[in-house]
Amino acid sequence: MDRSSPSGDRLGAVLESVRARVSRQQFETWFRKIRILEAEPERVVVGVENAFFRDWIQTYYLEVLRASVAEVMGGRPEVAVAVAAPEGGAGPPPAPSSRDSEAGASAALAPRARQERPHGEHARTGTLIPDPRFPNFYSDVPLADAYTFERFIVGPTNGLAHAAALAVSEKPALSYNPLFLHGSVGLGKTHLLQATCRSLLEGRPDLRILYLSCETFANQFIQAVQSGDLKNFRYRYREVDVLVIDDIHFLANKERTQEEFFHTFNQLYHSRRQIILSSDSHPRDIPSIEERLVSRFKWGLVTEIEPPGFETRLQIVRAKSEQRGTRFPEDVCELLANQITSNIREVEGAIYKVASLSELMHRPIDLALAREALRDAAASSRRQVTIESIVRVVTAHFGVKAVDLQSKKRSRSVAHPRQVCMVLARRLTGHSLVEIGGHFGGRDHTTVLYALNKVEREQQVDGRLKDLLEALAREVRSV
Ligand code: ADP
Ligand code: MG
Repeated sequence: MDRSSPSGDRLGAVLESVRARVSRQQFETWFRKIRILEAEPERVVVGVENAFFRDWIQTYYLEVLRASVAEVMGGRPEVAVAVAAPEGGAGPPPAPSSRDSEAGASAALAPRARQERPHGEHARTGTLIPDPRFPNFYSDVPLADAYTFERFIVGPTNGLAHAAALAVSEKPALSYNPLFLHGSVGLGKTHLLQATCRSLLEGRPDLRILYLSCETFANQFIQAVQSGDLKNFRYRYREVDVLVIDDIHFLANKERTQEEFFHTFNQLYHSRRQIILSSDSHPRDIPSIEERLVSRFKWGLVTEIEPPGFETRLQIVRAKSEQRGTRFPEDVCELLANQITSNIREVEGAIYKVASLSELMHRPIDLALAREALRDAAASSRRQVTIESIVRVVTAHFGVKAVDLQSKKRSRSVAHPRQVCMVLARRLTGHSLVEIGGHFGGRDHTTVLYALNKVEREQQVDGRLKDLLEALAREVRSV
């Protein structure tokens, strides 16, 4: 688009603002070619090249676009996304990584099925950004429109977590403090945390809330230490009404960050401010976490979310397919609920696959089509690969101990098997870089990324390593 025209300028400014809110890879994938079709004070229409882009941006980036348009144009114009040009010969765009930190080489390592799936949440920015709608709400990720209490399907395995989050959103600091939700990946922890923030803000838009991942907390702490700016850091975290930290297990093996968090916790707790935390495991099972933190986490309510049973999964499929466009026929819903048992993100991925295939082939959604779409998904969920099973196979092959993989040892005899584990974990499980790092001695995601890059490069020149990785992957899948 012509950047010298007024709308070109405006587009440039909107794009700059978008660029600041998403990862580089996401920006390149989704925004580089957008255009502004209409720019009225009340309504802005953004043009994209085909329906695939439109759906994706509408689903995952509308909040980002709204915030950017509002920033550039002022007011709160409605933002719409429309297909502006006929589809060219180009194939579908590369899918973005599912999280910010996974940009780059890891995308090349991710199995295809992962890449085809949309991600359910926005990327974390790593810094705290203000939300244009609420004066005192800062987060490292925009609240997703889909993550509300209304859209959370309650069942026996998540009912307590849901009820507790709801209670906290009604009476912060009076019901459960801290509220500690734990459970494995894709079971709705982030969804509940965001729903709680949103509901709190709906009741009191001026509430001072910080919502961020533990990784962002740790990074900001390190930056503050490095720049000698701890005072500001502390002010920021200790002067809030509600502190919400996602994936607190990231504190594993991070002594200084734990120490800092401990003082933050105390200060907030004693001034009767609400603290809400999520984790992939029970407090006591977070590797090398200080006892005094474990005991504090237990002062409030620690509650687990377990994988949902068939009935809940069925309800989720019904609701999610309906939210996506049309509710799937009942037999298709049952097929999905039956086949995908591991986590809800996979259920969403399957719904997305079925719906996309139907659109692409211009075929109605029926059992035959769903079976086709699910062939991959079913194969991979039949055998749920865990990091533990990967560790078992890899340690047996290399003759090292599992504890060594967790240790600080960096000799090649230990580092290499550890890196192989990380690559396999990335290829075969749905875990994020942060989670994978957490399993291997609480290493941070950049270490994991480094390992992935290194092994990827090595196996390109070393056919034996490539074969070994494939053989180990086969073995892991068959155990
Ligand atoms: P976690 O943070 O535990 O890894 P998320 O909160 O990101 O999981 O959930 C993964 C996806 O599954 C999200 O898109 C979320 O909306 C959806 N989800 C999980 N549990 C439910 C539920 N009970 N009802 C509706 N959607 C759910
Ligand atoms: Mg989460």
